[in-house]
Amino acid sequence: MGTKTVAYFCMEYGLENSFKLYSGGLGILAGDMLKAAHDIKAPVVGVGIKWLRGYTEQVISPDGTTVDCYPEHEYPFLEDTGVTVSVKIKGQRIGCKVWKTTKFGNVPLYLLDTNLPTNGERLYTAFLYGGGTEERLAQEIILGVGGYKALKALGMDVGTYHFNEGHAVFAGLEMLREEVESGVGFKDAIEKVRSRTVFTTHTPIPAGNEKHPLEALLYTGASLGFTTDQLSYIGNTPFNMTVAALRLSRRANAVAELHGETAREMWKHEQRCSEILSITNGVHRRTWVAESLLSEPSDPEKVWAAHSAEKQALIHLVEQRTGVKLDPSVLLVGFSRRATGYKRGNLLFSDLERVKKLLNGKKLAVVFSGKAHPRDLQGRSVIAELVKMSKAFPESVVYLPGYDMVIGAALTRGADVWLNNPRRPLEACGTSGMKAAMNGVLNVSILDGWWPEACQHGENGWAIGDESVPASVEEQDRLDALNLYQVFEQEVIPTYYDDKPRWKRMMVESIRSCSKQFCAERMVRDYFEKLYRA
Ligand SMILES: *Cc1c(COP(=O)(O)O)cnc(C)c1O
Repeated sequence: MGTKTVAYFCMEYGLENSFKLYSGGLGILAGDMLKAAHDIKAPVVGVGIKWLRGYTEQVISPDGTTVDCYPEHEYPFLEDTGVTVSVKIKGQRIGCKVWKTTKFGNVPLYLLDTNLPTNGERLYTAFLYGGGTEERLAQEIILGVGGYKALKALGMDVGTYHFNEGHAVFAGLEMLREEVESGVGFKDAIEKVRSRTVFTTHTPIPAGNEKHPLEALLYTGASLGFTTDQLSYIGNTPFNMTVAALRLSRRANAVAELHGETAREMWKHEQRCSEILSITNGVHRRTWVAESLLSEPSDPEKVWAAHSAEKQALIHLVEQRTGVKLDPSVLLVGFSRRATGYKRGNLLFSDLERVKKLLNGKKLAVVFSGKAHPRDLQGRSVIAELVKMSKAFPESVVYLPGYDMVIGAALTRGADVWLNNPRRPLEACGTSGMKAAMNGVLNVSILDGWWPEACQHGENGWAIGDESVPASVEEQDRLDALNLYQVFEQEVIPTYYDDKPRWKRMMVESIRSCSKQFCAERMVRDYFEKLYRA
């Protein structure tokens, strides 16, 4: 492992529940990355933003619609580094105060904050993923340009800059600007930046890759003095943050084997891009695995007893939050993803008569959670439907609003099975399934994201359907729903009720086969061996 520091840039960090700097999977991954780097003493520092209000807390109104709220947060444990750097946004100089924390191990996290009286009224570091193009670009200037300048001002000797997602790509542009200013030619300068930079891409959905009109870059100042021709050479027109990051990095990675295939296919027509490796995500075991299971016990009865206690804890949390008393003898399904179209949170309800038999026959209970992005109308309607289902099946369907790390941990420890049914191959990885697997919670999942790498059907969990992708979305939804019912009715439910010894052996196998392969330490080691290599 090299000794030069890796500077890891990310828009969000999920380190502990009350530290509200995260929205979802990207932040949880970044938090787990820092903790694992600490555990194996890897030379990493994190760079992010100190969000005043963070991401929506999202509650459900009595009529079943989502309501977004953003209280202010304070973090007295943050240390003042005494460093303030400045960036230019819309021609105005904006000061970025640099905070530091080592609360989560000796891997420091530096956080930029523009909440200063000298910056005027407009606060760019209030809402994580809030606002439109202008606000997003301002935030990305702060993370990228501000973050790069902060590390310099702190005197950090950085060997590799790691952009976790394209949000930080303006750090690459700032490095490029410095090189060009010192007299290096534009194309040689790009090579110099590439030699210091790596990139992780996360979204297999073309529309999910952020693009901005070149005019918006010029107007906000994200262009850093480059001409439209130069900007287009880096990131196309409109400016694609993923393409720019691929062109400014020496190597990139996707977050699962299958996601690597998808990403390579998606970007193969773009010129001058770095190669895209596959490095599958991992989760930080001490954060996510129940204490009683951390030692990976191989005795089925021990695992079952530990699981039963976690299931009780989940049932208790559900009762506290919703008043619903779930029956502990009923097979409990956990489902939690960001509520958005392709993750199909409502697929289980495709055939209402069929699922009704399972729910009313006390074969199945389901706890859902997951927020919708405030502007994702389709996502909000998925939640509305889940809330409606919880009213139609009050004893067996629950929707828990305000998905966060507490709910995430309780669900992936206490459910009996973990359901995941995205439209293949649109799920990049899906780390919550890894948390479940390490807790002996059996995955029942479409063969998407990380699951094809782990799934031994009927041994450590189950696949829904196979690896084929039907021609149309309608056909895919129809077939996946049929396969979902089939696997529950013919395999999962009979095993749970009629063959508990086999169920318990499967739990042991789930823990045994996944705990090492999908832990964050393995991921960080892979980063050092494969991604950070010169
Ligand atoms: C683990 C976790 C995630 C990531 O889950 P995915 O499987 O990627 O959807 C997101 N949010 C919270 C709160 C989590 O605990």
